[in-house]
Amino acid sequence: MSEYDGVSQLRADGSLRHLLSLEGLPRERIEWLLERAQRYVRPLGEPPARSNELAGITVANLFTEPSTRTRVSFELAAKRLGADVVNLEVQLSSRVKGESMLDTLFTLEALHVDVFVIRDSEPGVHGLVAAHAAPHVSVLSAGEAHVSHPTQGLLDALTVLQCKGRFDGLCVAIVGDVRHSRVARSAYQVFRTLGVAEIRIIAPPAFMPEENEFAGCARFTSLRSGLKDADVVMMLRIQKERMSQAAFPDPDRYFQKYGLTPERLALARPDAIVMHPQPMNRGIEIASDVADGPQSVIRRQVTNGIAVRMAVLSAVIEGRGGAA
Ligand code: ASP
Repeated sequence: MSEYDGVSQLRADGSLRHLLSLEGLPRERIEWLLERAQRYVRPLGEPPARSNELAGITVANLFTEPSTRTRVSFELAAKRLGADVVNLEVQLSSRVKGESMLDTLFTLEALHVDVFVIRDSEPGVHGLVAAHAAPHVSVLSAGEAHVSHPTQGLLDALTVLQCKGRFDGLCVAIVGDVRHSRVARSAYQVFRTLGVAEIRIIAPPAFMPEENEFAGCARFTSLRSGLKDADVVMMLRIQKERMSQAAFPDPDRYFQKYGLTPERLALARPDAIVMHPQPMNRGIEIASDVADGPQSVIRRQVTNGIAVRMAVLSAVIEGRGGAA
């Protein structure tokens, strides 16, 4: 059983009920989600995929941290599947008046909300809500503190699969503020489950994760040595919201040591792809020439985000026995 915070993410029949973390999710279930997501991918310029799979279903987006891509793509994904969508600006809602997250859950459940999409800066909120949700209700994480960002992990995996056609034998380098990154944690979990041969962490000492995390990853403090022969280079933003101002490095010095420039990218394999979950800080972790260059798949990641979120929404509703 795929448990997260004491909550099973799968129903007894193995279907997906909640998506809180990729940790422990069976490989077959992840591969199935990627296959399903691929079905919703359409080339840019063509109309997006649409269906009525979620007709009669209500999806609530509850975000307490800023978001552009994740929030918009969850909303578009739900609408393109025919759901009703409510976006709750949690800062403006009753939570600031002291209403607990659970009271917010019960209120929205009473309004026939079926799926909660939650981004929260507090670890544990997602698991708490999922543990108290009514049996027909699903909780999807849109980012949990520094801990987990499962739909980002899935869209990253889908992007690698489309570009490389496989996971085995690949070398993935995750570069930058790994310590504070939920994107890095979900990427590590999904790539490890899917059989990526080598996952490297490249970070300054202050941004290295604790020793007991990222088991099996080689750790590099030198970008040059870490990038050598990598197939996938995943760049990360410095998570300044998760550190004191004093801990934020000098941007120019950081770029000199850890910024991805065309010269440094040339150390990776010639067909290496460059990924970034965005928002990007050009000139801090990545040069514009690389971000907009021929090896960048950063915009493809965004497009894949919708397909993955459609797949996850459709999976949790299909698994409960269809739309309302
Ligand atoms: N958008 C990603 C996240 O929500 C990455 C970032 O913010 O740096 O974690």
